[in-house]
Amino acid sequence: MAKELTLSIIKPDATRRNLTGKINARFEEKGLRIVAQKRLWLTAQQAEKFYEVHKERAFYRELCDFMISGPVVAQVLQGENAVARNREIMGATNPANAEKGTIRKDFAESIEANSVHGSDSAENAAREIAFFFSELEIVG
Ligand code: ADP
Ligand code: MG
Repeated sequence: MAKELTLSIIKPDATRRNLTGKINARFEEKGLRIVAQKRLWLTAQQAEKFYEVHKERAFYRELCDFMISGPVVAQVLQGENAVARNREIMGATNPANAEKGTIRKDFAESIEANSVHGSDSAENAAREIAFFFSELEIVG
């Protein structure tokens, strides 16, 4: 299968606890390559736009507030089947349901403050990557 790209975000609960390196090591150990990365503090408007797909969900407001509560690290991960592979490495949304050895099982604080975001389809990955990065910034 061809190499694929996916968008990952290390969320504010994880940057606050200085976990960027530990989380990046999980991706690298499990065969994904970090081909773009930047640390930024999202504005309310940016967070609202990024999570627009969830705007009807009960947790939308709270989620946007959480995502602007500290810096995030946006990154592009590359590898075989990267979208699905990253979802496996991340674990379930709710850390209580996440498999042993996943990022969320080991690091998440709650269903909201769950340490990482990962695209859920190739289509969304393309949209989410374009939200944060230009083609020039992605170096495989
Ligand atoms: P995932 O990040 O696993 O793809 P979703 O796309 O369903 O999960 O939700 C986006 C983000 O919204 C989650 O990662 C989490 O931070 C937050 N979230 C999801 N469900 C809830 C919930 N029931 N209560 C609070 N926050 C939630
Ligand atoms: Mg999602």
